[in-house]
Amino acid sequence: MKATKKKTKKERLNMTKKKTEKLIDKKGLRLDGRKLDALRPVKMEVGILPNADGSAYLEQGKNKILAGVYGPKEAHPRHIAKQDRAVIQCRYHMAPFSVQERKSPAPSRRDVELSKVIRESLEPAVFLEYYPKTSIQVYIEVLQADGGTRCAGITTAALALADAGIPMRDLVVACAAGKADGKLIVDLDDTEDKVGDADVPVAFMPNLNAITLLQMDGSLSVEEFESAIGMALDGCKQLYALQKEALKSKYVVAEEAEEE
Ligand code: UDP
Repeated sequence: MKATKKKTKKERLNMTKKKTEKLIDKKGLRLDGRKLDALRPVKMEVGILPNADGSAYLEQGKNKILAGVYGPKEAHPRHIAKQDRAVIQCRYHMAPFSVQERKSPAPSRRDVELSKVIRESLEPAVFLEYYPKTSIQVYIEVLQADGGTRCAGITTAALALADAGIPMRDLVVACAAGKADGKLIVDLDDTEDKVGDADVPVAFMPNLNAITLLQMDGSLSVEEFESAIGMALDGCKQLYALQKEALKSKYVVAEEAEEE
């Protein structure tokens, strides 16, 4: 039997680059037919895992993300507990079948990094001081990935926190903007992320008008960077409207049923 050598990330990237010379066509449309400022189709649902305290599911283009939340409950191991507030323990994990080549189920360095930045993007929204010495656990499972999973993970996790009834100052919603073929674009898919010139993921608390995550991969001029943030925030506002709809469709319908 012929053994096939696993391709390195660089080789995979070069293959994608060869296959995809242009990311934006003459009409100004992207490979999937989207306009530069258009989000991928989005579907959100809240409260779908009966065994978690709170949960949510999101599809954004080909991304499929599930989040489950537990707590607040007594922090374990005890040394992670804070005397004056709750801690958030966050795990972002990509399933082996979420990407084209089977991914090891063990947490990668990237999973560990993303777990940290996602936790930091959620913390400002939660009234952690209400629950000293406890822990709130947030599990994000990427079932299928197609670029922008940290943002989609944040949007989903915030819904799951709200579904768990955890008091929050605001929801958190996230969206990336970036640059491909010299044009600024929003909500980058996997190819645009890998072949494009820049990717700027932004997480945002819409009512408090505060950014809780800002990263950049690639290079942009100062003007482009500012415009990219504006586009990402517009994307966040559209996603926030869908988050509210998802929460309403669970809770308003449930309230109406109780009244009947
Ligand atoms: N990806 C992959 N294999 C991996 C990690 C990532 O194919 O081991 C893909 C996946 O589609 C992901 C995209 O690369 O969404 C971009 O990854 P990045 O690290 O930029 O994070 P993301 O954009 O998902 O937040």
